[in-house]
Amino acid sequence: MKQSQLFTKTRKDVSAEEVSKNAQLLTRAGFIHRELAGVYSYLPLGLRVIEKIKQIIREELNTAGCQEIVMSALQGKEIWEKTERWSDEIVDNWFKTTLKNKTELGLAFTHEEPIANIMKNFVQSYKDLPFFAYQFQTKFRNELRAKSGIMRGREFIMKDLYSFHTTKEAHEEFYDKMKEVYMNIFRRLGLGENTYLTMSSGVPFSKYSYEFQTISDAGEDVILYDEEKRIAINKDDFSDDIFEDFGLKKDELNFKEAPSIEIGDIYSLGTKYSEALDLTYADAEGKGHPVFMGSYGIGVPRVMGTIVEVHHDENGMIWPAAVAPFQVHLISLNQNEKAEQLYKELTKAGVEVLYDDRDTRAGGKFADSDLIGIPLRVVMSKKTLEQDAVEIKQRGIDACDMIPLLSVTRDMIMDRLGL
Ligand code: ATP
Ligand code: MG
Repeated sequence: MKQSQLFTKTRKDVSAEEVSKNAQLLTRAGFIHRELAGVYSYLPLGLRVIEKIKQIIREELNTAGCQEIVMSALQGKEIWEKTERWSDEIVDNWFKTTLKNKTELGLAFTHEEPIANIMKNFVQSYKDLPFFAYQFQTKFRNELRAKSGIMRGREFIMKDLYSFHTTKEAHEEFYDKMKEVYMNIFRRLGLGENTYLTMSSGVPFSKYSYEFQTISDAGEDVILYDEEKRIAINKDDFSDDIFEDFGLKKDELNFKEAPSIEIGDIYSLGTKYSEALDLTYADAEGKGHPVFMGSYGIGVPRVMGTIVEVHHDENGMIWPAAVAPFQVHLISLNQNEKAEQLYKELTKAGVEVLYDDRDTRAGGKFADSDLIGIPLRVVMSKKTLEQDAVEIKQRGIDACDMIPLLSVTRDMIMDRLGL
């Protein structure tokens, strides 16, 4: 894309209300627009990142045999009354509204009830199980605090996956596999190093659940973590009995403490929802049993905000190549004729290029480029062209090289990006 055509512009300042680093940088770089506290719109550069995050999650879940759906945000109260989650006294973050005929509706904050209700149409016998369905869908939550930028939205895209098995044992095998699938996802998203599988408290059925916590000063949680064993405990849930429950020996782990961000979590739901909503299957003898369920969440904007919190410096964002809005930032310093040719060639070869063809000063172009944070910068100037070369620089690394123009190929770029 040509930067002269990008309608968003970078800016120097953001509103004083925006206290989080992620929202400050994303707003200054033109990735997002704040509608209200905790409510954001995604602009072209921001949307490209959101879509890349979704695609990585989608690929890993599809490989694990999951199927994509989309459920509605608007919800009638009947199914939620069956699980006792309609009442505002029990669930304090509902957004609710009414139809013109006074029927009460809610904007879903999660989807265990609707998906169990849908699956009643498709589950009769044990032969129909197991299966796994997920969605990327906008959740609404009347969050008390919204000070973490896009990491805690009142409206946000969640990836929520639900699993359906005949037995606890069959469920547990899948649940364990999802721990690995999640870590693969976070590794591909550039968060692998800082992210820990974290033991946490569960829902009524199972005493514990797992969270995926990324160490960052911007975190609202605190974990106790073992760097070598790659395991952590949410400080809120820390107790001597917890070790036994997870089959760990306390004195074999020496914990460090750090603030962290919960980017995902996985729950064993048992038969709580299937019993309440009558989602049952018949076994080989024709006897009925409730389906065993699990749920698995990842907050897509929370992941995006976390990537910014973990990967930035004083000049701006530093996107991991797999989620960067573009792979290459091609900067022309008054050399648009030659630069346009390279832009066209690379784009044709399938490289994602943001081409700064604007008629502005070099200093401004470099400052914008650092702020936006595209991983590879290619500069074409009079000086470089005298040597039939371009200057190439990786965001976040000081050194840059001159390389012959002819060697700027897709393969060379993908190699440098590690893609
Ligand atoms: P938290 O404890 O941070 O409020 P949660 O445990 O209530 O989160 P879940 O219902 O487990 O959240 O949601 C699944 C995932 O969705 C979380 O792991 C997190 O990544 C993300 N998430 C939750 N709330 C928000 C929010 N308000 N904005 C953005 N992402 C969110
Ligand atoms: Mg959670």
